[in-house]
Amino acid sequence: MSIIDELQTALGPDRVLDGAAIGERYRSDESLTGRVLPLAVIRPRSVDEVSAALRICHAHGQPVVPQGGLTGLAGGANAAGGEVAISLENLSGIEEIDTAAGTMTVKAGTVLETAQIAAADAGMLLPIDLGARGSCQIGGTISTNAGGIRVIRHGVTRDNVLGLEVVLADGSVLSMLNKMTKNNTGYDLRQFFIGAEGTLGIVTRAVLKLKPLMPGRRTALAALEDYEAVVRLLGKAQRELAALSAFEAMWQSYVGFNARAAGVKLFDADHPFLVIIEQDDDGSDAARERFEAFLGEALEAELIVDALIAQSEKEAQRFWSVREGHLMGQLLPSLVNLDVSLPIGEIGRYAEACEAALLQRFPGAHVSFFGHIGDSNLHVAISIGGAASEDDLHAIDEIAYGLVQRFNGSISAEHGIGTLKRPYLDRSRSPEELAAMRRIKQALDPKGILNPGKVI
Ligand SMILES: Cc1cc2nc3c(=O)[nH]c(=O)nc-3n(C[C@H](O)[C@H](O)[C@H](O)COP(=O)(O)OP(=O)(O)OC[C@H]3O[C@@H](n4cnc5c(N)ncnc54)[C@H](O)[C@@H]3O)c2cc1C
Repeated sequence: MSIIDELQTALGPDRVLDGAAIGERYRSDESLTGRVLPLAVIRPRSVDEVSAALRICHAHGQPVVPQGGLTGLAGGANAAGGEVAISLENLSGIEEIDTAAGTMTVKAGTVLETAQIAAADAGMLLPIDLGARGSCQIGGTISTNAGGIRVIRHGVTRDNVLGLEVVLADGSVLSMLNKMTKNNTGYDLRQFFIGAEGTLGIVTRAVLKLKPLMPGRRTALAALEDYEAVVRLLGKAQRELAALSAFEAMWQSYVGFNARAAGVKLFDADHPFLVIIEQDDDGSDAARERFEAFLGEALEAELIVDALIAQSEKEAQRFWSVREGHLMGQLLPSLVNLDVSLPIGEIGRYAEACEAALLQRFPGAHVSFFGHIGDSNLHVAISIGGAASEDDLHAIDEIAYGLVQRFNGSISAEHGIGTLKRPYLDRSRSPEELAAMRRIKQALDPKGILNPGKVI
């Protein structure tokens, strides 16, 4: 019996797609670097079915690629030839919201936005938030340890996961659905799987932290003349805005492109930098006055040269539509979206050096920058104007990551390693660290069937 027959017999034919039944959407994540369709797509509806599928794959030494919402940007969910995908899309739903404990227990295939709405309906905030919220899944977000726009206040995904259920390569189930903040009982196994990009186990359920939902949110857009002012404004916001929940910087190159693309006019003049500043507060007049006073002082001190305060949710969305830049991928051919981490004070100089080096190699290219500056995280958007060859992509990586090393940064702040950054991992991790990672991989997945070729 072939492995596909065996899987279909064990799980039921409707759970395993093969041949022409495998849709194009299983080919690639958002990096659009997937080359082939998986050999089969397993779509389990329960942890027992994930376990049964992995037991069979393990017995056959069959490589398996976990797939979530396929919004990843590092190629981590793409199958290579002959690999089977396990899609978590049908393992979805919220199992419990415990307002006393401040937790949500949720299945891995649940779309992030669905979980956010369920939390809000219960008067709580699910603090994990990113631009891909409408498609990315809880399991994929945990497996990439995604960051996003609220990290400055609530931390990365890792900081918001209390418990996990994971199926190991041999089908055994680790049920670690802990709800407590404190639990010092030996090794914290859940941490191995957060950010492991599906190479150590398949996440099937999670217990996430919830926080009280604040009734007020204020959003401002500030214009600045140079990067030094951005850093000083960040320091002032961290000191004075107790409820600061987002600080997102955009370089003029990024604003100019995305405001035009979205048909949005922000300020009368162009400014070298724009920053979205947001706070979540108790909705009182006093909180509003403090926010306005903060901006007024920044203007008086000439830290910022202009500012807009959103007067409605719709206006705040206008600011965010430019920041999220959803049209870039459609309008710029072969768009590369790099994600690096650098010491905050160095980000401005890195961006200048990176832009100059990229434009020297690719004159006329689109190069723009934006980022979660409070988390040391810069994104670089590059399109060389036409289809980019493998050599072009390699040249872009070499330029950007070579400079990251020079500025003592990290080649991945939040998107992970996948396949795209694997060749550069040694620029950010030592040989000893890589050897320890390989030993952990060997211990948990001795046959190497889980997401082979990814991360290490
Ligand atoms: C418009 C846009 C905005 C984005 N913004 C951000 C951002 O601000 N911050 C950020 O960090 N990322 C961002 N991303 C990247 C991406 O959204 C995140 O990495 C995302 O959370 C991945 O979730 P997913 O379900 O789509 O995972 P996928 O892309 O399907 O998979 C990602 C990785 O996780 C593995 N995986 C998936 N599900 C599981 C599972 N259940 N168990 C084990 N392994 C699994 C896959 O094998 C793969 O290695 C953005 C992407 C887009 C397209």
